Amino acid sequence: MNPIFPYPPFDYASLDTPTPYYIIDRALIRRNMRILADVQEQAGCRVLLALKAFSTWGVFDEMSPYLAGVAASSLNEARLGYEHFSKEKDIHVYSPAYSLDEMRELCKYANHIVFNSLQQWKMLRGVVENCGREIRVGLRINPEYSEVSHAIYNPCTTRSRFGVRLENLLDAGPDALDGIDGLHFHTMCQQGSDVLQRTLQVVCERFEPFFEKVKWINFGGGHHITRMGYDIQRLIRIIKDFRAKYGLEVMMEPGETHVIHTGFVVGTVLDVIENPNGVDVLILDASAAAHMPDILEMPYTPEILGARRVVDDCDAPLDEGLFKYIVGCKTCLSGDVIGEYTFSRPIKVGDRLTLEDMSQYTTCKNTTFNGIQLPSIVSCDSDVDGGAFRVHRRFDYQDFKNRLS
Ligand SMILES: *Cc1c(COP(=O)(O)O)cnc(C)c1O
Repeated sequence: MNPIFPYPPFDYASLDTPTPYYIIDRALIRRNMRILADVQEQAGCRVLLALKAFSTWGVFDEMSPYLAGVAASSLNEARLGYEHFSKEKDIHVYSPAYSLDEMRELCKYANHIVFNSLQQWKMLRGVVENCGREIRVGLRINPEYSEVSHAIYNPCTTRSRFGVRLENLLDAGPDALDGIDGLHFHTMCQQGSDVLQRTLQVVCERFEPFFEKVKWINFGGGHHITRMGYDIQRLIRIIKDFRAKYGLEVMMEPGETHVIHTGFVVGTVLDVIENPNGVDVLILDASAAAHMPDILEMPYTPEILGARRVVDDCDAPLDEGLFKYIVGCKTCLSGDVIGEYTFSRPIKVGDRLTLEDMSQYTTCKNTTFNGIQLPSIVSCDSDVDGGAFRVHRRFDYQDFKNRLS
């Protein structure tokens, strides 16, 4: 079972509200925020929330007091950050490409805009410089070094479209960075400060001559700072050493680290399919494909409170007193299966299951595939007696219909 939750601080499945629902524990968010605020203070850097990973603005008031701002990947996210995170804090934007119309609008909200290519900067420079607001401009570089093995999450493959490679930057001549005052790289995914250390070494070896032309550098996302076992002291040391050596402002824009181990999906078992060929299958009213897509995309098997994952030894004999089930979902996609688990009791129709670690890349990434009900968005505060739960949003037929024509 997950070492973070030997027992749950709150019975997330007990709420008197229909399933499925996402439930975010505001006390657990504050725990992560205190860690990140501490990093900012000790390392002298700015930590932004990448909205791509988590943009559930109903709980932004638990986050914005601790953070330097947000990192958006689109006009919509930039506007959301401006309107619901904070108008006073930094709104950074990076996108692989911008349209002219998008850039005109972005200039109303962003105070840092990162370009993916020198050509885009040349095309859109006039808009940024004449918008009447002070905007700092950055360029994404591609260090051509990443320790991410899964190709779909690796921005440094030879076919990558992300960032300017050293060769292209050198080809652009001595004035390549004219008007640009920051650099940005993003090469990591769910990794530790050891990976940052090795990555930064490559970035410095390749791009050091350009550091004196800029004022700031953004170390991107993928830093799993709040995870158990992450070496925070090393992160602080890396940033302090870098700042001392180059005199640049340092910022980072992780997404999931802000909310790991803070959220759950609660679903109800609608049926138990007896399977003569093996393990009985539960049908849950939530869906991996529609509500927790990374389960299938990564892929991985999430923890379920009170259950144990059967990961390797699927055919091993069951321990005495354990009940084994495949947890499947209520869509018609055959592969919409969460995984195989053992429980210490038989599971019946009507039982609720609580899936762990479901804040990141869920609410911001879900769909109504199959017309399936979107989970409500609920929060609670396990530091408060009774849990102080709030239903932020329920979804209905109109939400489904309005996106379709
Ligand atoms: C996805 C992404 C992030 C956030 O990544 P996490 O893995 O959620 O920390 C930050 N910056 C950029 C450019 C990204 O594409």
